[in-house]
Amino acid sequence: MHEIRTGFGDVLKRQLELAERNYELLADQGVRGINVMGAIGSGKTSLILRMAERLLARGVRVGAIAGDVAGDDDFKKFQAAGLPSALINTEDQCHLDPHRVRHALDEFPLTEVDVLFVENVGNLVCPADFPLGCEQDLVVISVTEGEDMIRKHPKMFAQTDVVAINKMDLAEVVGVDPQRLVEDYRRVNPHGRVVLTDAKSGRGVEELLSALGLIR
Ligand code: MG
Repeated sequence: MHEIRTGFGDVLKRQLELAERNYELLADQGVRGINVMGAIGSGKTSLILRMAERLLARGVRVGAIAGDVAGDDDFKKFQAAGLPSALINTEDQCHLDPHRVRHALDEFPLTEVDVLFVENVGNLVCPADFPLGCEQDLVVISVTEGEDMIRKHPKMFAQTDVVAINKMDLAEVVGVDPQRLVEDYRRVNPHGRVVLTDAKSGRGVEELLSALGLIR
């Protein structure tokens, strides 16, 4: 007999409950949370900053939480941009979890923001299993990560309805056809929205905001 009980089902149930409470807190405060996931170097921070610029210009108030295993590089960038921001160092965890996010939310000036970007820890595996209580998920991939990124992480993409394919300015240089990525995404998530972006030039940022329902 191989009866091994890990209790993992209970852990997941608990995470879902905590995420639900975060969702309710944000909804009560009229804050729209966006869980931004993607590998290290995909351009999550840069895209958040570009989106924030456009939203702020429209009078939408933006805040950001930087989730990283260690360090405060992204947090400092959010602060330099003048965004109300918080830092979560996970130390031993490869993902944010709803409990840590709750602690950050409890300290956060939620009455000062309309949109809150939560930048998850940089990888495409662990964050897929931990809902944070955000209204929407956004996955950022860059063409420099190769043509097989979506095929290697089907779970993440199947459950994410908005994907940004970033660093489009480098697609030709690295010899990646973004249409291959789009087709792979369509295969795992026929109803998702995919936007081609380049955070450096600002290409696709408006379209991305629109895909996230943050602008009309
Ligand atoms: Mg970052």
